[in-house]
Amino acid sequence: MNLFSLHKEDWKNEPVKGLAPFRARQLFHWFHRRGIWNYDEMDNLPAKMREKLSREYPIESVSILQWIPSKEDETKKILFELSDHQIVEGVLLSYRHGLSVCLSTQVGCAMGCKFCASTIGGKTRNLTRGEILQMFYLTQRKAEKKISHLVLMGSGEPLDNVEEVKGFLEILTDPDGQNVSWRNITLSTCGLIPEMDALAEWNRPLTLAISLHSAREEVRRVLMPISRTYPAKDVVEAAVRYQEKTGRRVSLEVSLIHEVNDTEEDLQALIQLLQGKGMHVNLIGLNPIEERSLRSARDIRLETFKKSLEAKGIRATIRREMGRDVQGACGQLRNSVLSKIE
Ligand code: SAH
Repeated sequence: MNLFSLHKEDWKNEPVKGLAPFRARQLFHWFHRRGIWNYDEMDNLPAKMREKLSREYPIESVSILQWIPSKEDETKKILFELSDHQIVEGVLLSYRHGLSVCLSTQVGCAMGCKFCASTIGGKTRNLTRGEILQMFYLTQRKAEKKISHLVLMGSGEPLDNVEEVKGFLEILTDPDGQNVSWRNITLSTCGLIPEMDALAEWNRPLTLAISLHSAREEVRRVLMPISRTYPAKDVVEAAVRYQEKTGRRVSLEVSLIHEVNDTEEDLQALIQLLQGKGMHVNLIGLNPIEERSLRSARDIRLETFKKSLEAKGIRATIRREMGRDVQGACGQLRNSVLSKIE
């Protein structure tokens, strides 16, 4: 029994026999409001109880292995070490509206997208809700400032670990915990349709982002093997269902790669697929990955995509990439330490 992973509802089943409900509330408060899971620090619990809890309900601990500030902006790349010595990465981003953290949901990733570093070496394992929570709390403590926004856009496919991800989000948004607003949370998926539909049923007001990258099936299939199971057209239909059910606008991620998905044909296919659907397109230039020869589209192509989409009534933004120098930008996170970071 990992007490740290319990939701408030789970505490009602008396996971620790004989523990008074107010003690359970105190524990939840220490864990999820204060971000502290070392029983020794819980000074409003009797010493005997702290000893018993440490002995009978030990909590495995994530730690920060490295905190790497970008030289170009305020971004920090963070390397976390898990209790089995696996390493995962996260990124802390500083915006005018406050701090945002980008967290991983798996060690590695099984999806195999050709342009992404997280998938090199495949998936090692899922992260647990407790591990993801600890990453959030450790980052916030180190930043010495409240983190108001969260993006699940690190390593891994969140919907390939959906139970732990949902459990993590329920605790993170709990008013007795961090009380992070659902509206400040973005979950990004490569488009696993059954899980997207289940997420729509779950119906929380988070933002769903979908990695589309191309509306041309022959191109998307090469870039994203998952497209053989869930083609772009079907993914966009599922996104429409998601919008109808939740009333939340879906974002589509399009990372433009020079002469791969940035041609006029790609642009027209994108317009055709998305026109009238009320979705938002996030355009970025591909971030280079050491192991791949793919290059970013030119800035002028990004601008052309944005203008042409907008001319057809499709909202589009060109996202500013941060933290490239510390390999902290989209798709640059991986499950081993890249030695080249100076
Ligand atoms: N597995 C999820 C979460 C990853 S989020 C998903 O696929 O959405 C990371 C985002 O960055 C995704 O949109 C992903 O497709 C994109 N990405 C991956 N590698 C990239 C790269 N090298 N340059 C730009 N974007 C990249």
